[in-house]
Amino acid sequence: MAESTKPHYVKDVSKLEGSGIFPCPKCGVEINPRDFSEEIYKVRNPQTTKYDELKKLTAECLKCGAQIDINGFNKQRKEAFKVTRS
Ligand SMILES: [Zn+2]
Repeated sequence: MAESTKPHYVKDVSKLEGSGIFPCPKCGVEINPRDFSEEIYKVRNPQTTKYDELKKLTAECLKCGAQIDINGFNKQRKEAFKVTRS
């Protein structure tokens, strides 16, 4: 409920090529899976499989606040995005 006011988008990274960089669907800022600075976006709610492979996460754009649900991870992409476990 609390999240409902924020714009929400879905991105399937299996359709991306090369470095996996894509523009924010709302403001167009570059989302780079290997940018771990957390200055452009933050990773939220990462979900992994029982084999510890990344399945799904939400990237929150820090420029415009868009919530981007990212899915479609596969073996080629499992190294992308930093996931910090708590
Ligand atoms: Zn944005």
